[in-house]
Amino acid sequence: MLNRENSRTREVTAGSVVIGGQNPIALQSMCATRTTDIEATLRQIHLLQDAGADLIRIAIDSKKDVEALQEIRKETTANLVVDLQENYRLAADVAPLIQKFRYNPGHLHHHEKSKSVAEKVKFLVEVAGAHNLAMRIGVNFGSLDPEQKGEETDSREAALNSARQHCQMVEGLGFKNFVVSLKSSDPRAVVEINRRFSEMCPEIPLHLGVTEAGLLPDGAIKTRIAFEQLLSSGIGDTVRVSLTVPDNQKDQEIIVAREIVEDVAAGRFRSVPEFLDRKFNVISCPSCSRVENHAFVELAQEVKRVTEKYGESHKLTIAVMGCRVNGPGETDEADIGLWCAPNHVNLKRGHESLGAFKYDEVIARMLAEVESIIASRGEG
Ligand code: SF4
Repeated sequence: MLNRENSRTREVTAGSVVIGGQNPIALQSMCATRTTDIEATLRQIHLLQDAGADLIRIAIDSKKDVEALQEIRKETTANLVVDLQENYRLAADVAPLIQKFRYNPGHLHHHEKSKSVAEKVKFLVEVAGAHNLAMRIGVNFGSLDPEQKGEETDSREAALNSARQHCQMVEGLGFKNFVVSLKSSDPRAVVEINRRFSEMCPEIPLHLGVTEAGLLPDGAIKTRIAFEQLLSSGIGDTVRVSLTVPDNQKDQEIIVAREIVEDVAAGRFRSVPEFLDRKFNVISCPSCSRVENHAFVELAQEVKRVTEKYGESHKLTIAVMGCRVNGPGETDEADIGLWCAPNHVNLKRGHESLGAFKYDEVIARMLAEVESIIASRGEG
């Protein structure tokens, strides 16, 4: 077990799990099924529990999701975490059913624009306090707070400012049962911002994650690079490995997380940071209840397969995302972005939209764009 004797973080309680302090690193994952598909979601919860998940997250976007969660709750004793999107008020509906929820500061600007973010945070803190819930302030590079992320602002500074601002708001309301996450698809950025946050707020527990790490084995390798550096310096209290895997292999997220934590505890450092210097990079989200077509995982696999031939010869990032909610933002820093809709895939090059394509047509068009970028750089 990882030695946590020197941990300075405070303890945060989420159901039967205590995160932070000298407690073992809590392992968590997130269901990729539609929450309204109760049977499939329960199947995945059991798969993750059997693998040893301490906390299991589910996305809630609508009243129908809340109704589904009521049924799910009857069938599982798992520590459930709800991922709130724009519809933050659903926190009150799900609170009696869960142990923790996560909100994203970047998403509090979309609904009820007449209300201030501070008022929304107050509402969330009151809900958490009234139901003894833990909370996560989950900052993500792909959906940064628009008030922090101007055109010219560095994403790292915007992420840190956002986390700091929300910690101050939440603590100012007298609430301390919360953790923070600062996630990026770039493992180096994850290391830097978590180190800086930990120096700034040493007592606040950190949830670590490399978002959109992608398919195996690359996703596990990228995550290991960040986690090894952070966990070995005492940073991180709970972890999530985000992998693009088929639904029946979701337990891989827990298996990989446990392997990394055990290896760090035993002093077995296996990561090769030079992996990140590879030029051709495919990133993809782990999918969740919001995924718009289950062909998403195959799409990501196909993108990876057809671009293997570029190997080390060209520096290019392709991002593949599962939905229209986060797809546009999460692909912003890639050279080519693809994100799913129910019957088509949206494609963009840099910030320029190239339109929507059928699932069986988009790969050819994407490859044409890759070739065009390579030719425009004179690298052909
Ligand atoms: S991009 Fe969409 S489908 Fe993928 S994990 Fe994020 S919210 Fe879920």
